[in-house]
Amino acid sequence: FLTLDSVVKSYGERTVLRGIDLNVERHQVVCLIGGSGSGKSTLLRCINALEDINEGEIRLDGDIISGEGINVDLLRRNIGIVFQSFNLFPHMSVLKNVTLAPIKIHGIDAATAHERGMELLRRIGLGDKANAYPDQLSGGQQQRVAIVRAMAMDPKVLLLDEITSALDPVLVGEVLDIVRELANDGLTMLLATHEMSFAHEVADTICFLHEGVILEQGPPSQVLDAPQEAHTRAFLSRVG
Ligand code: ATP
Ligand code: MG
Repeated sequence: FLTLDSVVKSYGERTVLRGIDLNVERHQVVCLIGGSGSGKSTLLRCINALEDINEGEIRLDGDIISGEGINVDLLRRNIGIVFQSFNLFPHMSVLKNVTLAPIKIHGIDAATAHERGMELLRRIGLGDKANAYPDQLSGGQQQRVAIVRAMAMDPKVLLLDEITSALDPVLVGEVLDIVRELANDGLTMLLATHEMSFAHEVADTICFLHEGVILEQGPPSQVLDAPQEAHTRAFLSRVG
């Protein structure tokens, strides 16, 4: 469904992704794990066209979404992304944050967007915060709003980059609950995470990234419980 074929990404002389082949099936959850600097964020940013790739090809639902001449707006409508830092618009209310893109990009009328936005906020238990501003919310609440904001675009795929890393440990659970719910709803997701037990639970496939290559991939029971590669074992013993 989301397919990367021999994707190479360099920053100047430095090659950060060295031929990535990856396929995320529809309704599947793929977790990217790997050490700091292994290329997880870069991979997600390339998929969302926040970075150009140097070689290879990325497809979504059969359509090429990398290279020159692609429609970046259309691409980002189909692929939502949430980052480690919450990136909510600080000067806008929670509801405005959620409805801005559907109104501006999707051209949905304001009343419908508000109704849908409120429904999404209620689903995550933040209906009463619709008129609050981001700085009046906890980190966990802000991150839940950031996820809802991405979901308001009704994306085909959601990319999540370490979305719990900046959170107080007590707030991690409430954010993971939402991701778990989205996975149960059948949303296609590709996420970079350091939460190994969560990855074990939620992922259909785990990809271990090492120095810009996927060294090992497979179901959690294989990659996390019985890793074949020495680098994977070393990484897991470090984080676990
Ligand atoms: P972490 O777990 O720390 O988030 P990561 O796996 O997400 O790490 P990336 O952020 O993808 O790693 O970085 C991969 C490599 O690319 C690193 O060596 C990093 O220094 C380099 N890199 C990332 N962004 C840039 C940039 N804009 N210019 C130059 N090098 C970069
Ligand atoms: Mg990263």
